[in-house]
Amino acid sequence: MERVLGDQRIEIIIAGAGPAGMSTALFLAKKGIGSTLIEKDTFPREKICGDGLSGWVISMLRRINPDLVTRLQTLPGQLPSYGVRFFAPNMKSVSLPYRNAKFPDDPPGHIIKRIDFDNLLMEEVARQPLIKVIQGVTLARVEHNQDEVIVTDTTGNLRLSAKMLVMASGASGKLNATAKIEKRDPKHQATGIRQYFEGVTGVHEGNFVDFYFLDEFLPGYLWVFPLPGGGANVGAGIRTDILKKRKLTLKQVMEQALINNPHLAERFKNARPVSGISAWNLPLGSKKIPLSGDHYLLTGDAASLIDPFTGEGVGNAMWSGFAAAEHIEKAITANRFDAAFNKQYDRYIYKKLWKELRNSTWIQRLINFPRLFNWVMNKITANDDLQKSLILMIDNLEERKKLTKISFYIRLLGRK
Ligand SMILES: Cc1cc2nc3c(=O)[nH]c(=O)nc-3n(C[C@H](O)[C@H](O)[C@H](O)COP(=O)(O)OP(=O)(O)OC[C@H]3O[C@@H](n4cnc5c(N)ncnc54)[C@H](O)[C@@H]3O)c2cc1C
Repeated sequence: MERVLGDQRIEIIIAGAGPAGMSTALFLAKKGIGSTLIEKDTFPREKICGDGLSGWVISMLRRINPDLVTRLQTLPGQLPSYGVRFFAPNMKSVSLPYRNAKFPDDPPGHIIKRIDFDNLLMEEVARQPLIKVIQGVTLARVEHNQDEVIVTDTTGNLRLSAKMLVMASGASGKLNATAKIEKRDPKHQATGIRQYFEGVTGVHEGNFVDFYFLDEFLPGYLWVFPLPGGGANVGAGIRTDILKKRKLTLKQVMEQALINNPHLAERFKNARPVSGISAWNLPLGSKKIPLSGDHYLLTGDAASLIDPFTGEGVGNAMWSGFAAAEHIEKAITANRFDAAFNKQYDRYIYKKLWKELRNSTWIQRLINFPRLFNWVMNKITANDDLQKSLILMIDNLEERKKLTKISFYIRLLGRK
């Protein structure tokens, strides 16, 4: 991959080669628009994540290149996943299979370490002559004037100017700060940790991803996502403001739960960790924020687009890459890269994603009331019809909206 140093003038710079940045570059290339993608690490590189990929991610891969889905399915490190299990504090569980109406022969979801998934995307990027990749260069500063945006790396050796900068640098926020982009509110951010294990038992036959809601940790939760060969991605996450207020240590919460919770202790009795514990932030999409300005657009985690309930961010990151490419095409045609013109991008993003983000925020808040949450979970685990409604809610936004209506809970009162 080419490494460019010195002063250069280009049209589009993308800062960060995660799913958001790489999707932006790939969707631009599909339109015949070139870009320069700058990444601080060198691929293949790790990313702290739960490693769960929903159907939304698969449909984005399909939009980029249907062959990517086939390539993903044949990677030895991936596990097809057919649903989700929620464990209530009393360890009653509800299993909700994902549906894949459009492509019934394909697995609806996958679990794959991000080092492998992101590398699959990078291989696709490397095939595109219109994308210039610069790896191992950390951008440190963003400035702009009336005509252009200028980025500089940490050494000062690289200085590039462009018409548009796509900020795809993830949750770190450092680069956003130099561009004077609003600081994140801890109420709208979560902190998560993850550790890899081997020898975890009790995996659902459809490789469902498991979420555990424990009384002492609500509204946070633990997850156990199976990986091939008896491996698992195990983690814990909670809103950052609550973590700070309660002075919790996530490592302690997770380690204690794996020992003291009888259900988890049974699953982990022959398990052993095969990595250290790593922590990272999740910028949640529970609040609308400005997503653009003069000569720049925010995508993915840099735009705070993570689902506030499930913690899923890869799908929205990739879709925001698609939206950024659509907008950049319009900007080039109109020769307009200013903040007023770029506001269309904010509207486009929230028109598509806000309903779902708002519903998930509502569910996240419900978990803030442990008694109500326990009561709802008890009702659901005891009632097959309710479980069927929830299965519908997984991929039907209108159905899911019912969870935000008081009438749903009044009807629950009447159920055995
Ligand atoms: C613990 C945890 C569990 C999660 N579990 C899931 C899950 O199971 N499923 C799911 O869908 N989502 C999950 N997420 C969220 C998901 O990881 C993110 O939403 C997703 O990675 C966002 O993609 P992105 O491209 O915006 O950012 P990233 O994937 O973070 O990519 C940003 C890229 O920018 C680079 N970069 C950063 N700063 C600079 C700089 N200054 N200069 C150059 N390059 C830079 C980084 O090295 C990185 O490659 C989880 C997150 C966490 C923290």
